[in-house]
Amino acid sequence: MLDEAVDRASTRTVSTHRLPPPPSALRGRIVVAAVAVGAFAAAGAGQTLHALGSDSPASADEVTPLANAAADGAAAFGVGGTGPASPQVLPVAKTVDPAAEAQKLVKSQHITETREAEEAEARRPKFARPAAGEFTSGYGGRWGEMHYGIDIAGPIGTPILAAADGVVIEAGPASGFGLWVKVEHADGSVTVYGHVDTYSVRAGQRVLAGEQIARMGNRGFSTGPHLHFEVWNADGKKINPLGWLNAQGISV
Ligand SMILES: [Zn+2]
Repeated sequence: MLDEAVDRASTRTVSTHRLPPPPSALRGRIVVAAVAVGAFAAAGAGQTLHALGSDSPASADEVTPLANAAADGAAAFGVGGTGPASPQVLPVAKTVDPAAEAQKLVKSQHITETREAEEAEARRPKFARPAAGEFTSGYGGRWGEMHYGIDIAGPIGTPILAAADGVVIEAGPASGFGLWVKVEHADGSVTVYGHVDTYSVRAGQRVLAGEQIARMGNRGFSTGPHLHFEVWNADGKKINPLGWLNAQGISV
């Protein structure tokens, strides 16, 4: 009767569907599953027989070898002879698509690079002392007139750095300053770098804090090589650059 059912099923499959054979990986899984199911069935049968044997001592000798064989069979497949069968331990092959795996690898590498760039950006100083050199003059009244910036003196050619991230809004000649560079920052404030000997940026260029934008000079109304540095707040008011720098953690 079982044979008939199998025959009918296989005849129907062949005559009506004519399905192509399953891929080898799938076939492997079917075989593994079938073997495992067989092991469960054998283990179950062994337990039942063993239980029957305990109730009937007379037939214990016949039953015990069967039970042992079933238990051994189950153990060989790693499913255990006595505990409840757990579907999670079935050794089902996992399908691996190399292209998808490569794509995942590239994606995770991209995420790592992005995170490293973000961390580097977070670590990067957001403010810088605009030039190395000697602080020679502060903000305020001087020789009967107002000095709207601070002076840092040094040799001609000393690098001048953007004090903060921003966009260059002017680089060129300016009355009294000889040549100057002006950088506008995100909050609307502007830093001014005067008397420069040369500049290496142009209007519209984005610069980062600490990036060299010019070199120290002695042009314009100047009594020696130095940087004249001003800070204009968002309203255009010229404020004390020392206070502004100190508030950003920069000492001069
Ligand atoms: Zn000055």
